Amino acid sequence: MYVGLDVGGTNLRAGLVDETGHLLAVRKIPLGEFRGAEPFAKTLASLAAQAARDGGIFPESLAYVGMGIPGAAAKGEVLYTCNIPMKNVPLARLFQRYLDVPVLLENDANCAAVGEYFCGAGQGTKNFAVVTLGTGIGGGFILNGKLYSSGGMAGEVGHMVVEKGGVPCACGRRGCWEAYASATGLIRMTREAMERDKTSGLWEESDGGTAVTGRTVFAAALRGDETAKALCETYGSYLAAGVVNLLNIFQPEVLAIGGGIGEAEEALLLAPLREIVDRESYAVHCGGKVSVVRAVLGGDAGMIGAALLGRVI
Ligand SMILES: [Zn+2]
Repeated sequence: MYVGLDVGGTNLRAGLVDETGHLLAVRKIPLGEFRGAEPFAKTLASLAAQAARDGGIFPESLAYVGMGIPGAAAKGEVLYTCNIPMKNVPLARLFQRYLDVPVLLENDANCAAVGEYFCGAGQGTKNFAVVTLGTGIGGGFILNGKLYSSGGMAGEVGHMVVEKGGVPCACGRRGCWEAYASATGLIRMTREAMERDKTSGLWEESDGGTAVTGRTVFAAALRGDETAKALCETYGSYLAAGVVNLLNIFQPEVLAIGGGIGEAEEALLLAPLREIVDRESYAVHCGGKVSVVRAVLGGDAGMIGAALLGRVI
């Protein structure tokens, strides 16, 4: 038995998982205020222990605890996290003061890829990719059945440039994929489209502009709003640019799209994306085919994947 810990932007979640990836018990608490690495490690250890006990397991008998960290993490150390102030923190060692079991740390998007690989959209493949469209864009790759981690820093797909000299990104570059194809990028483009078209249904869909989300444009497009439909197309072209880049580099058998935006209607997101992929990806010249699908585990992917990390590293 394993526990997978998902260190998210708002919640900490621990899941007791068996060898086949079934979630047997889940504990969740709010992330709360960060009071330093030591108390943070203690909180994580107690959450993991609770999840184990909920499933009738002695916490000390866990094979290991896997942790998905929103940032770079490897070899028991958090190198850097964006939302939680940690840099070069030996989190595994701190954790073990409170719960003495082996600890595996990985980037959270990589954990989500592992979860989908074993229990979701990537089942039965050897080469598999996940792209998560949320506040940013996360990426994770399973290559030849192993997680491509490179010290927890691989898979930062959101920071490849798709528009040279484009809008500034938090990473310091301009025109990053994330600045266009993440939920944050889509919200920015939605607001810009609304400024250009004061009569668009996007206004009504977002309570007069006060509640613009990553779903606003899809909802308005479904109701037939022309400005929204045009923006869906623009957004899809940015999404496809990055997806085709990744397909050309890695040629996975399956690429799964997850995150909040990934749940948008098939006809508005995945169908047009597949059309561009079928037209533009290099593999079409060689008779190859990649299947682009929706991720299936939702918010549980990272927790399940963290618990199964031991099988892919
Ligand atoms: Zn960037």
